[in-house]
Amino acid sequence: MQIGPDTLFNPTDEHRMLREMVADFTTNEIEPQAEEGDRRGTLNLDLFRQVAELGLLGITVPAEHGGAGMDATAAVIVLHEMSKGDPGFGLAYLAHSMLFVNNFFHCSNDEQKERYLEKVLTGEWIGGMGMTEPAIGTDVLGMATTAKRTDDGYVLNGRKMFITNGVEGDVFLIYAKLDGRITAFVVDTTCPGFEKGQVIHKMGMRGSTMSELVLDDCQIPAANLLGEEGQGMVHMMRNLEIERLTLAAQSLGIADKCMEIMVTYAQERGAFGQPLNRFGQIQKYIGESYAKTEAMRCLVYNVAGNVGADIQNRIGSDAAKLFCATAGKEVADAAIQVLGGYGYCEEYKVERLYRDAKLIEIGGGTIESHQKNLTKDLTRFVYG
Ligand SMILES: Cc1cc2nc3c(=O)[nH]c(=O)nc-3n(C[C@H](O)[C@H](O)[C@H](O)COP(=O)(O)OP(=O)(O)OC[C@H]3O[C@@H](n4cnc5c(N)ncnc54)[C@H](O)[C@@H]3O)c2cc1C
Repeated sequence: MQIGPDTLFNPTDEHRMLREMVADFTTNEIEPQAEEGDRRGTLNLDLFRQVAELGLLGITVPAEHGGAGMDATAAVIVLHEMSKGDPGFGLAYLAHSMLFVNNFFHCSNDEQKERYLEKVLTGEWIGGMGMTEPAIGTDVLGMATTAKRTDDGYVLNGRKMFITNGVEGDVFLIYAKLDGRITAFVVDTTCPGFEKGQVIHKMGMRGSTMSELVLDDCQIPAANLLGEEGQGMVHMMRNLEIERLTLAAQSLGIADKCMEIMVTYAQERGAFGQPLNRFGQIQKYIGESYAKTEAMRCLVYNVAGNVGADIQNRIGSDAAKLFCATAGKEVADAAIQVLGGYGYCEEYKVERLYRDAKLIEIGGGTIESHQKNLTKDLTRFVYG
């Protein structure tokens, strides 16, 4: 049951079929392995390659380049459905297909596409993106990684922190400062001076991995410059919109799953001779969580219709992520409360979903950064 016209959530038959396919795959393949991935803190690479076989790794890449040729709504559908089963696995998919593939596709030339695209679309190579550093995250312009020109390319020095897919990754889109201006490079594990740093263990989203990346006099051929020198901020900003939107879709998937679990539990579990769902305080958790979840759904899909390579919508994507991040975490929290002691334990999944949900308030921009961006953009473009 969802509020809003189906044409908003499934604008075409293709979108509806995509949703059915990913939902089935999530129920049959992704969800059953989620607990194991969470416990181990590892990415299920075999499963990831099955996602490649479904043709999902290049969801936004045009069909003539080997992708699915779909739009931001399709990317939202995939992350929404996957995150009902395993948001951690979904985050690995997001880092690969949104942070690397989508960004790379839009800023690479034909020769670079020829060299890298097939490998990442088939899942032979795993991709990721390195923006954050040990000493900077939100203040991205303060990044310390440098690029210097050499006779045949560039040499990069610096460290990248909290990089999703860092452990398994073969290729990364790396931002560095060249003459003080942020520039994008494609760096793979064959580049001399590129190393994987420490593995970073995390609270949630444990179905994907995270590590530091080390660039120590890392030699990059001139052919690995993405776009033009000094244009990295343009690529970064354009891609952040779909990144934030799909992260918001992850929160929605988490909230949907938590609703299902808490409503079922409150009907089945009894106390004082009646089902839990007869108690007004439990009804408050359920009713308010449902209203939040439906508001998330309408906002995410409404914004998705206005995000694309040629459509700028930072206000929409920041608003969607700001609202959904906290709403998703609150719905997961309410689910734990409705389930009482069982909610705090592994069996009913909501404690894992709560830990996963918290990341969305931090990754891809903190909620504070969205508040800052929104105030700036609304003042300048809407009410100014
Ligand atoms: C699980 C996980 C996966 C990640 N994956 C990736 C990845 O694949 N690639 C990548 O590049 N990065 C990744 N990140 C990094 C993530 O994007 C950063 O953690 C995030 O941008 C915040 O940066 P920070 O951690 O340095 O926090 P900081 O920027 O140090 O912020 C710390 C606190 O200060 C607040 N703050 C900072 N500046 C301001 C301000 N001007 N006004 C008000 N408050 C402010 C922040 O909101 C936050 O509450 C990942 C992080 C996590 C946890």
